Amino acid sequence: MSVAIIPQANPGAGYRALKTEIDSAVARALSSGWYILGAEGRAFEAEYAAWLGTTRAIGCANGTDALALALRSLGIGPGCAVAAVSHTAVATVAAIELVGATPVLIDIDPLHYTMDPAELDAVLANPPAGLPPIRAVIVVHLYGQPADLAAIQASAAKHGIPVIEDCAQAHGATIGAQKVGSFTEVSCFSLYPTKNLGALGDGGVVATNDAERADNIAALRQYGWRTHYISDSAGVNSRLDEIQAAILRAKLPHLDAANARRQAIAAAYDAALPAALRPVRRAGTSHVFHQYVLLVADRAAVQADLRGRGIGTGVHYPAPVHLQPAYLDRIALGPARCAATEIAAREVMSLPMYPELTDDEVVRVCDGLRAVFGQ
Ligand SMILES: *Cc1c(COP(=O)(O)O)cnc(C)c1O
Repeated sequence: MSVAIIPQANPGAGYRALKTEIDSAVARALSSGWYILGAEGRAFEAEYAAWLGTTRAIGCANGTDALALALRSLGIGPGCAVAAVSHTAVATVAAIELVGATPVLIDIDPLHYTMDPAELDAVLANPPAGLPPIRAVIVVHLYGQPADLAAIQASAAKHGIPVIEDCAQAHGATIGAQKVGSFTEVSCFSLYPTKNLGALGDGGVVATNDAERADNIAALRQYGWRTHYISDSAGVNSRLDEIQAAILRAKLPHLDAANARRQAIAAAYDAALPAALRPVRRAGTSHVFHQYVLLVADRAAVQADLRGRGIGTGVHYPAPVHLQPAYLDRIALGPARCAATEIAAREVMSLPMYPELTDDEVVRVCDGLRAVFGQ
């Protein structure tokens, strides 16, 4: 007997759950006759900034571009190094190279999978030889869990360099009562379909409380125009289109409930797993579970076993950036040589996680976890 597989991610279910609202938003955008940088985009930017708690949000084409635009708005380019992590979507590092800067990759704290602030502090004080000066830090709130931002900001502040939050996986995660993406000079979000807030295509957001920086980013995303057809600076084309903006406006009012549903699913998985396998939550923060990730030494076997029970799993990410073919042997690392990152890459496994999982499916996943891990 073959069982239907519960997929690890399911963006189609996200569309179907809000089909009426999304279809009418798309129809509205189509019939408006205006398809790029219009009323839907402006309204989405205002609504997103209000939801996030920043004064400005600027839509762009994707999360990678959001990072590149943020870096450019800080004057980061050739002759600058940027500290980031290797245990992330390759986009984080690709964006640094996109602006012509040089990445230097810091290891993770193995409990939370986010940047190790102690190693960052050491690298800022004593950078690896042969590197241009480190001019910025990108901190990734990976899997929906806030990084140790206060410690990272304190280290960066000692050297007078800015921190950029990569919130591509953490829309709505909080530190204290404040949402990530509102703490630093500039922050970035991806709106890729599987993210906590996902378009039905590509999209990204840069957020800031600085009006001048916001205007600068808004110009950079469209050829450096402040006035139509006049480029004050050499920009790029990285616009969020009106159809995606309309879809995002339909989805944004449901984001907090969707994150709460992810957290409830995470609590159910916790209860089905031995305590040692449960993801560790950082004290004083709320985790929005873009992914529910556990470490399993015999990952391939566990994934096959779960699959046999109808449970899809994923691996985020099977190879750290510095070991991927495009980056191998040419990226500067901190003194820890990304040892914890390499262990995580071998052992991380992601369970099904999206708000539209039914209660019945969650029970099926939990039953599978109990059978496989013997809780
Ligand atoms: C998804 C993601 C990005 C890039 O977003 P795109 O929209 O795919 O360009 C950047 N950083 C992290 C951590 C991500 O998960």
